[in-house]
Amino acid sequence: MSEPTPAARGLYLDHAATTVPRPEARAALARWLDPTHGPLGNPSAIHRPGQRARVAVEEAREAVASALGAHPNDIVFTSGGTEADNLAVKGLAWAGAERGRRHLVTTAAEHPAVLEPARWLARHQGFELSVVGVGADGRVDPDDVLEAVRDDTAVVSVMAANNELGGVNDVAVIGAALRDRGVPFHTDAVQAFATVQVDVTGWQVDALSLSAHKFGGPVGAGVAYLRRGVPVAPVTHGGQQDRGVRSGTFAAALDASCAAAVSAAVVDRPELAARLRALSDRLADGLVAVEGVRRNGPSGEMDRLASHVHVSIDGVDGEALTFALDRAGLAVSAGAACGAGAQKASHVLEAAGVGGDAAVRLSLGWTSGAEEVDAAVEVFRETVGDLRLRGGGRVA
Ligand code: PLP
Repeated sequence: MSEPTPAARGLYLDHAATTVPRPEARAALARWLDPTHGPLGNPSAIHRPGQRARVAVEEAREAVASALGAHPNDIVFTSGGTEADNLAVKGLAWAGAERGRRHLVTTAAEHPAVLEPARWLARHQGFELSVVGVGADGRVDPDDVLEAVRDDTAVVSVMAANNELGGVNDVAVIGAALRDRGVPFHTDAVQAFATVQVDVTGWQVDALSLSAHKFGGPVGAGVAYLRRGVPVAPVTHGGQQDRGVRSGTFAAALDASCAAAVSAAVVDRPELAARLRALSDRLADGLVAVEGVRRNGPSGEMDRLASHVHVSIDGVDGEALTFALDRAGLAVSAGAACGAGAQKASHVLEAAGVGGDAAVRLSLGWTSGAEEVDAAVEVFRETVGDLRLRGGGRVA
């Protein structure tokens, strides 16, 4: 199976929303969905077809655990980042409530997959929620997080890296302090994993979320790292398959494919991060050369993801710009893509106080190259110029 050429798929600079599946992940998925490899039973069945499938799940678990520096028993497969986040936030909150802890801490820049379960727990189940503000770069000050923590805090959730501005948080500092205080700590590493070395031991996290389609795996697969010994209540109830916290038939083919992507991503991560850092700087330089365009997010190189470029653009309408770029063959994201399709003010940009008439996130992935980046800059420059000539493209 050959890769689609950039020309065939257009200019795709929205890898943070979903990236191109890696060959290893495609091969694993095809292998485990192909009945000619023998009947693939239910991994919980005791017959041989079932046990063969179970081996696929357990091998996948081992591969993911080794990539994260974890034990296989710490790994629970989920349907993606949203489920992993819900399991961590609600599961740790409910387990904490059984010990009289009913307070939650998170940040204003979290993905809705964390913020919404936390708000739901506050709205419907009497939890108290502290939402810590972020700086103009979308990063949180670890001291602000630690100040919000109380004796009855059930869970603290701080993302490893922000999906919009690309700000990388100092989760290791937060993790060390919370471990000392015995407070469960979750981090959403969905955006970080592709380019940041994710190390659950070094970070001292008790729970961590991954989503396979963000680093070359299939959509519909994810990982919840849940450190053994830290109580977590189940979110889905049923046949008790995965450690009793995540019921449902094991998705052997998806799990194997997710693990293949994890392993492939870990092998080339340092090289990919260095390559994307140079490419994203080249992209940002090209974009800010257009008048009235400025880069948002952290200014320190290591404080931002190598893959993300976020810019504000004066004198154009955000919605009109995204549509015009798409018509010109350049796929980018206005704000963050994983909410609904509708464009509304991003809570992250609001929390960080990022201004401008329009804001666009461009994100790179393992298939990105200099040719595509240069072509994207050219399309951006022409499109912004055209829109400005037409009064910014505002719709009445
Ligand atoms: N967390 C972050 C930081 C994300 O960027 C996303 C998706 O973009 C999610 C969670 C949700 O992941 P999924 O869409 O795979 O459920």
